[in-house]
Parts: sequence; C-alpha cells; structure tokens
Amino acid sequence: MTLSAEHVIYMDNNATTRVAPEVLDAMMPYLSDLYGNPSSMHTFGGRVGQAISGARQSVANLLGASADEIVFTSCGTESDSTAILSALQTYPEKNHVVTTRVEHPAVKNLCDNLEIFTGRKYHITRLPVAEDGTLDLQRYRDSLTDETAIVSVMWANNETGVLFPVEEMARIAKERGILFHTDAVQAVGKIPISLQEGAIDFLSISGHKLHAPKGVGVLYIRKGTPFIPFLNGGHQERGRRGGTENVASIVGLGKACELAAAKMEEENSRVRTLRDKLEKGLLTTIPKALLNGHPQHRLPNTANISFEYVEGEAILLMMNQHNICASSGSACTSGSLEPSHVLRAMGVPFTAAHGSIRFSLSVYNTDEEVDFVLQKMPAIIARLRELSPFWEENK
Ligand code: PLP
Repeated sequence: MTLSAEHVIYMDNNATTRVAPEVLDAMMPYLSDLYGNPSSMHTFGGRVGQAISGARQSVANLLGASADEIVFTSCGTESDSTAILSALQTYPEKNHVVTTRVEHPAVKNLCDNLEIFTGRKYHITRLPVAEDGTLDLQRYRDSLTDETAIVSVMWANNETGVLFPVEEMARIAKERGILFHTDAVQAVGKIPISLQEGAIDFLSISGHKLHAPKGVGVLYIRKGTPFIPFLNGGHQERGRRGGTENVASIVGLGKACELAAAKMEEENSRVRTLRDKLEKGLLTTIPKALLNGHPQHRLPNTANISFEYVEGEAILLMMNQHNICASSGSACTSGSLEPSHVLRAMGVPFTAAHGSIRFSLSVYNTDEEVDFVLQKMPAIIARLRELSPFWEENK
C-alpha cells in the first residue's frame, strides 16, 4: 500500500492523541440530546449523572481502583496542582517537597513557583537522573525528611518515555508517613497499572493522551488519603472538585479507558514492534544518531533520538514537508534554542540535545508509515548536515 500525498503521518502522540471514533460516538449524545445537568433532581438530568458514574467505573477499572477514588478534573495540569497543593495545605507545618529534575512543566513550574512566590517557605529537592534517565533509589531515600509533605514523581517521562519505579518509591514514602503523588499522564493506557494493593496516594491522568478529548483529566485519590479541594464550589465530585461536569468529555474518557483496558496488551505489543523497527532503522542507517533514555525501562511507544550536529527544529521543518509530525527536544525561547531540561538533566551533550527528535507512536500508526519515515529521514539529516559547519569538523 502506498501513502497518499495528503496522508499525515502522526508520530507525536505524547503531545496529544486522536480521539478514537468509538470515543466520539459515545460522547455525541451528551453534546446534543442528553444535555441535562447531572446534579438536577429530574430523571432527564439523572440519566446524565448515570453516564458519569459509568465513566468513573471505567476509569477505576483501568487503574485497578474503586470508583469513589476517581475525581474528574479539567486536565492533567489541574490534577497535578490539586494533589501537591492539597498535601501542603494538609500539613502546613511541613515545608519540603521531593520531585525530580525531569518532570513535566505541570509539576516543575508549580514547584519552582512554590519556592519563589512563598519567599522560599518551601524547599524543593529535585532528584537528578543518570545518563539513561533513570533515578537512584538510595538518593531518593536519603532525600526524605520529617519535613517532607509530599513526593511527586512522574510514572513515565513525556520526552524519553523512561519509566520510574513509582510503586516502590510510594512504599518507601509511606514507611516515612509521607504522601506520594505520581503524574501518570503518559503512563495510563500504555502500561498496566493496578493501584489497589499499592501505596500511591494521588495519581494524575489527562484524557487527551489516551484517545479521549482535550480538557478532561482525573485525579485518583486513595481512600483514606487526606484531601483538601483546589476548586471549591458546588457539591460535584462529592465536594472534591466544584464546577459543573464536562459530561461529554468525561463519558469519552470513560470509553477511552474501556478501550485501553480491553486492548492494551495486544495493541501495545504492536506499537512496540513498530517503534522498535523505526528506532533500529534510524540508529543503523543514520551516522551519529543516538538513543536518549534507557533502552528497556521505557514506554512502548516512545523513541527519543538525537541526530548530532543538526538543529531539531530544522529537522522538524523538513519532516513537516513530508507531512511527518513529531517533536523536538529543544524549544525556541526568546530567539535562542534551549535544549529541554530533561535532556540537560541526563547530561546529553549540547551537540546532541539540540538535534533530538521525539517520535511517539499510537495504535493508529502503520508499518507503511514507519517505512516511509525510514525512507525520508536519512536524506533529511544528510541535507541538514551538508549545511552545518560543525558536521564538517566532526564527521
Ligand atoms: N504531565 C505530563 C507528563 C504530560 O505529558 C502532560 C501533557 O503534555 C501534562 C502533565 C499536562 O496535561 P494537560 O495537557 O492535560 O494539562
């Protein structure tokens, strides 16, 4: 099968995912005929309330949790903030937070601001990572103190896909009486998760990373974990998050969780096979191409590869001419290209960090698409290197 000229090859699924057709179908009635308010006393609203209850159960099933531990929010960012700020309010006498140097801005910037805007009332420990993006557990143990209110460590890194041993880390925190939050936005739907027997207190999800729409998220709150709401208002979510529910998106997220639970194993092994083929092909056909992140302890869909001595943004522009969508590990801020804080924390040299590209696949990618990318990439990198004075000196 050949790909048409208009065909978009979407390999940027850690940025956002396509809404699954089944998810859209499930949502449509709640954007049209079933518009009642789930809090209303009438049967019309009650039907909508039942749909939310069904979605809550579907999310709980995917997480191995119970339905009353699921709180719907507006996004992953809200879930992250809610968990961390709740812990700090619960323990006003504690002033220490443990996190990592590679968190998503949703956690990173909150922690930075906690230090700055409270006149350094809060002290943040940001755990370093090794060259392969993994954490040192002994260093983590040593970072915990009697002042630590909460640990917030992501389950899977959005740039490299590297997985952290959050279940073990949560047990260690629990032994010290410290609350544990994980930003599992990139992990949910991609790896099996079972929270019931574990020690994780809070876990964040974002709908748009698992084929549900943007603007809906979940905060899992373990039964018995002390909790203070972030959004105060009506009695929605049993008083844990005020605001009339985003019904259609919640229903969509429930459907996406059902799909993930039913197909995760089979689909992810297919995605892993495609990712591995892409990764191996790029690393073997393009000189000075390096994998960023641990080769095994990784999400099945993510490959972060550096092409030395070229700029990531230039690579993306040329990929874009072939309708190939991915992300670069550098961001243009105030006119200068800043390599990502994740790659910097891993000690990736500047010459490689600048030329890093994140390919993140989904169940919608095909073998033909991988072949197409493998066919185009060597010429793109070679062309850009012809223009690079650094390449001449270092090839
Ligand atoms: N955490 C991680 C690891 C993410 O990758 C993202 C989104 O990129 C978020 C949090 C934020 O999620 P949302 O876009 O729903 O606020």
